[in-house]
Amino acid sequence: MEGKKERDVIVVGAGPAGAMTATILAQKGHDVLLLDRVPFPRDKTCGDAVPAGAIERMHHYGMKEKVDTAVARGEFYPLKSLKIVSPRAYEIQALLEKGHEGSDSYVAPRMYFDHVIQQHAIDSGTQFCVAQAKEPIVEDGRVVGVRAQTNGSISDLRARLVIGADGVTSAIARRLRPKTEQHEDAHRAVALRAYIEDLEEIPHEVEFYLYKDILPGYAWIFPIGENRANIGLGMRLDQFRKHKLNLEKMLQEFLQMPAIKPRVKKGGQLHDVATWQLNFGSQAQMQHVFDGALLVGDAAGFINPITGGGIHNSIISAELAAEVADEALKKGDTSYEGMQVYEQRCHDELWEGMQKSYRMQNWFMHFPVLVDILVRFGRQSQSLTQTFLSKL
Ligand SMILES: Cc1cc2nc3c(=O)[nH]c(=O)nc-3n(C[C@H](O)[C@H](O)[C@H](O)COP(=O)(O)OP(=O)(O)OC[C@H]3O[C@@H](n4cnc5c(N)ncnc54)[C@H](O)[C@@H]3O)c2cc1C
Repeated sequence: MEGKKERDVIVVGAGPAGAMTATILAQKGHDVLLLDRVPFPRDKTCGDAVPAGAIERMHHYGMKEKVDTAVARGEFYPLKSLKIVSPRAYEIQALLEKGHEGSDSYVAPRMYFDHVIQQHAIDSGTQFCVAQAKEPIVEDGRVVGVRAQTNGSISDLRARLVIGADGVTSAIARRLRPKTEQHEDAHRAVALRAYIEDLEEIPHEVEFYLYKDILPGYAWIFPIGENRANIGLGMRLDQFRKHKLNLEKMLQEFLQMPAIKPRVKKGGQLHDVATWQLNFGSQAQMQHVFDGALLVGDAAGFINPITGGGIHNSIISAELAAEVADEALKKGDTSYEGMQVYEQRCHDELWEGMQKSYRMQNWFMHFPVLVDILVRFGRQSQSLTQTFLSKL
C-alpha cells in the first residue's frame, strides 16, 4: 500500500455500505482504496435477512451474476413469506412481495453476502487492502486521509475524500462527530445472533416473535436451509439495561417456549453465538457530512428501529454518498459546504420511515396489547406486517 500517493477516495470498511460506495465510485472512474481491518470472506453478526429491494440495487451495479451464483450454490436462501407472533400468540402471515424487477428476498449469511459486494468492488477497479483505520487525519479542520495500521506498522494514507463505512464502532465517526452527538441508549439496541442446526424450519419463511418480555424488540428464526437457521433476539438498549437482562439466557428461554421447543431436535446445536450493537436512524440531528468526509451505513447510524434492518439502508446511503462524492470530486470541492446536500438527501430518503418506526416501537413498549390487536386484526390494518415487510 503506497502511503504517499493521494487517492480520490479512501473508503474505510468493506461491509455492504463501504463496498457498495467503493463499487459505484470505481465504476464512475475514481481512484478508490477500500480498507477493512480483516480479510474477506468474514462473518458479521447479523440476522442475514436481505430484502429484494437491496438485491435489485446490487443488480443495478452489475452483481446479478454473482448473486445468482450464490443462490445456485445454496449460499443465499430464498424467502417466500413472513410470520409475526404476538405476545398472546396470535399469528399473522404475509407473502413477501418480489422486488420491482422480480427479485426474491434472501437469508444470506454475511460470510457470503458481504463477499459478493466486496469482490464486486475489486472487480470494478477498487484497490482493497487489509488495514485498520486508527483515525482520520485532520489538518486545519479538514479530513485529508486516514491513519491506518497494516502488519503492525502505521501509515498515513491521503485522499481528497474519506468515506467512513466502518460500522457501529466507527473510528471515523468517533473522531469527527461532536461528543454531544453520540447515540443515546433509547436509539440503540443490543442483539444476539446464533446459527442453529436441528431446528425444524418453516421452509422459506422468516419468523418474528414479539413476546411481552422482549418488546419493543423481538426474537427471530430466519432459515438458511433444511433444519438450519439464523436465530437470535434483540432489545432496545435502555430497556435491556433497565431490566438487567442476559441475552444468552433469553435465547435459552426462547428455545424452551411451547411454540419452539417441539421443533428443536437432538438438543439443537448452536454455533457462532455472538452479540453486537445497532444504532437506529431515529435520533435527530446527527451529522453525516464533514470537511473532506462522509459517513454511510451503520457508521452513520441508519438502522430501522423496529425491524433492526440496516443492510438495505446501508446500500441506499452508499448510493446517495457515491452520487454526492462523484459530484464533489468532479467540481473539486469536497468541503462540508460542497457536500452538505448529502444530509438533505439522506433525510428525504430515510427520515420519515425512521420516525414512523420509532413511534411504533414506543407504542409497543408501553402497550404490548397493541401488538396483539394489530396481529389479530392484521388483515384489516396491515400496518405491522407492512412495516416489517418494507423495513426489513
Ligand atoms: C444481531 C444483528 C442482527 C441484524 N440483523 C439484520 C438483518 O437481518 N437484516 C438487516 O438488513 N440488517 C440487520 N442488522 C443490521 C446490519 O447488520 C447492519 O445494518 C449492516 O451490517 C450495516 O452495514 P455496514 O456496511 O454499514 O457495516 P458493517 O457491516 O458493520 O461493516 C463494517 C466493516 O468495517 C470494518 N471495520 C470496522 N472498523 C474498522 C476500522 N477501524 N478500520 C477498517 N475497517 C473497519 C469491519 O470489519 C466491517 O467489515 C443486524 C444487526 C445485528 C447486530
